[in-house]
Amino acid sequence: MLSTMQDVPLTVSRILRHGMTIHGKSLITTWTGQGDPHRRTFAEAGERATRLARALRDELGIDGDQRVATLMWNNAEHVEAYFAIPSMGAVLHTLNLRLPAEQLVWIVNHAADRVVIVNGTLLPLLAPLLPHLPTIEHIVVSGPGDRALLADSDAQVHEYEELIAAHPAEFDWPELDERSAAAMCYTSGTTGDPKGVVYSHRSIYLHSMQVNMRESMGLDDRDTALVVVPQFHVNAWGLPHAVFMTGIGLLMPDRFLQPAPLAEMIERERPSYAAAVPTIWQGLLAEVTANPRDISSMKNVTIGGAACPPALMDAYDKLGVRLCQAWGMTETSPLGTMAHPPAGLAQEEELSYRLTQGRLPTGVEARLSGPTGEILPWDGKSAGELEVRGPWIAGAYYGGAGGEELRPADKFSADGWLKTGDVGVMAPDGYLTLTDRAKDVIKSGGEWISSVELENALMAHPEVAEAAVVAVPDEKWGERPLATVVLKDGASADYEKLRAFLAERIAKWQLPERWAVVPAVPKTSVGKFDKKVIRKQYADGELD
Ligand code: ADP
Repeated sequence: MLSTMQDVPLTVSRILRHGMTIHGKSLITTWTGQGDPHRRTFAEAGERATRLARALRDELGIDGDQRVATLMWNNAEHVEAYFAIPSMGAVLHTLNLRLPAEQLVWIVNHAADRVVIVNGTLLPLLAPLLPHLPTIEHIVVSGPGDRALLADSDAQVHEYEELIAAHPAEFDWPELDERSAAAMCYTSGTTGDPKGVVYSHRSIYLHSMQVNMRESMGLDDRDTALVVVPQFHVNAWGLPHAVFMTGIGLLMPDRFLQPAPLAEMIERERPSYAAAVPTIWQGLLAEVTANPRDISSMKNVTIGGAACPPALMDAYDKLGVRLCQAWGMTETSPLGTMAHPPAGLAQEEELSYRLTQGRLPTGVEARLSGPTGEILPWDGKSAGELEVRGPWIAGAYYGGAGGEELRPADKFSADGWLKTGDVGVMAPDGYLTLTDRAKDVIKSGGEWISSVELENALMAHPEVAEAAVVAVPDEKWGERPLATVVLKDGASADYEKLRAFLAERIAKWQLPERWAVVPAVPKTSVGKFDKKVIRKQYADGELD
């Protein structure tokens, strides 16, 4: 028998209507780099999003599920695009502005984007690509920047403010199938071509509810969220949608992502919450250590995208800022797990839980698969590849204009689970500890060495700012670890001392024989250690 409940589709336009009315006074604050930041209420942003949708439909002719790309920083206009495009039934395609040019070109052509909304400061990046982007018919420019760079473009150029001012703040939002596409984001293509993940209205709606729950980010309208994680990286971890559900204010850094302006905006605007990858928190820590600022307003910080080094968590604990680790990926919307300890523990006991990747929310199921595909027990010991499924987990990749979905066997199991490529163990109470990414594990003489464990141990040394460990070929053992280390200013540590420090914490056979002190660890387009580059530098003899 069917239920007697109403069948109301879970759509992005419903989140928009809710946010702009029920939480109409909540604020989006965008950093401008000088003077006062720019402030706009949810009601104003919602009204402007409605005008944008009308302009896209009536003036630019966007129809059906056509793709509208954004090449933008985190700011109020980008939030408007987040709501306007899916609400009208089109598909928001966020472009990662740190990708190499050829990958950006590939992605725009694969998605067949018709429009790109771009921040003026990013025109030097976009303009040279345009001759290779035949599907782009319209460019909508927002904010300061040199429009002359678009002089030779075949696409029609529009000013964001003029465009939306010319259209009414009314849109009869279509009643969409909740399973239809709302937004898309490509993985960064570290191996092979980038892969397009397409989020549905339903997946965004359910994911946003989970983000707001206390067992996840745990936010409400008393909070202001500093969103450092870029809007082009997995929907800024779902925060722009989630805040319109519960009225959390947004503090958006725009292009001011360096440690000094971040420290300044935290001190001045006093956000209670923040979200970013570990390298951002490392940078901010170094900044506030050198030039003290009051960052204590941040009571609740989500750190994810890469493992959180214990030393980093400890340093922030001392500053009164509590980091909570989260695990996820582009394919998981991204919320997969969060490391809140169970209730009722003493502070010292909590730490061992906080240093795991965390536990699963209701919407995510997980299993560990062993080397021959057998399902492993949750005993805290058996290590296998993490596989997940759930209503906001990808079941395929976007296949392009043909409309066919891609389900590569290395990414999806025969019974439809997402293979994450992450290796770890599950404790009996459901806490996940990742030991490595499958491709970063060091396979030494038939045994596995966790690069993350070595990095964490090294980063606990008082003179080490950052450390990245990769596998390098070894005649005798197959692979051995190479430790690359960034030392703090004025440090005197050498390999001998670092090795002795590690020897107290790590099994002897795992200690690296190969070392390199480097000025900086290379980072990926989303700020994670780029181990592929380090392996290449070693192969090219640059790290001897
Ligand atoms: P990319 O593959 O380009 O890095 P994603 O941003 O989707 O793209 O990265 C997802 C991956 O990041 C995960 O599969 C995992 O390896 C890693 N990751 C994310 N969060 C954590 C975490 N808390 N601890 C360890 N690794 C993490």
